Amino acid sequence: MDSEWMAAGLCRIEPPAMFFPSDGVGVEIAKRICAECPVKAPCLEYALENRIDHGVWGGTSERQRRRILKKRKTTIPVLV
Ligand code: SF4
Repeated sequence: MDSEWMAAGLCRIEPPAMFFPSDGVGVEIAKRICAECPVKAPCLEYALENRIDHGVWGGTSERQRRRILKKRKTTIPVLV
C-alpha cells in the first residue's frame, strides 16, 4: 500500500507517544489532532488493512478500529 501520505500527517510534528496514549483522555487529545489532518482517510485505511491494533490512527481508537473491522467482516457485499 502507498505510504506517501505519511509525510503529510499532522502527527509528524508531534511526539510519537501522543498517538499511543495510555488512557481515554490521551486518546481524545490525539483524535483532535487527527480531526484536522489532511490524510485522515488513508491513515485509517492503512491501519485497518495492516491490522494495527495499537494507538490512534486516522482519528480512531483501537476499539473503534476493531468495531469497523468487525462490521466490514459481517457486511455482505452486494453484487451488481
Ligand atoms: S490521521 Fe492522525 S495518526 Fe493519521 S497521519 Fe493524521 S495525525 Fe497522524
